[in-house]
Amino acid sequence: MASGSAIRGSRVGAGPMGEAERGDTAPRRRVTYWCANGHETRPSFAIDAQIPESWDCPRCGLPASVDSGNPPPVPRNEPYKTHLAYVKERRSDEEARQILEEALQQLRARVSRGEVIL
Ligand SMILES: [Zn+2]
Repeated sequence: MASGSAIRGSRVGAGPMGEAERGDTAPRRRVTYWCANGHETRPSFAIDAQIPESWDCPRCGLPASVDSGNPPPVPRNEPYKTHLAYVKERRSDEEARQILEEALQQLRARVSRGEVIL
């Protein structure tokens, strides 16, 4: 039965001399996350902190995951935008057609007046 010597041999937290830690540099580890847009972000966490599964990309705001090949899907939380975008799209289409029509009429008028030769 061994007693005493095994326990005394393990000294927890004793680092090599000269590497004394200053109080403000707690050991941290960097974790790399990738978002669906391929942005890479590397926040650092305290060694004993729990690493979150996903991290908001600081560049585009999308959720990022630690698995570069499998970023989280883009959340579809734009309930108002779709309708507004649809309306805007339709309006700009009409406006574009009107502008084109006006330009064509002006051009035809100028052509008929001999100002422009096509
Ligand atoms: Zn991003």
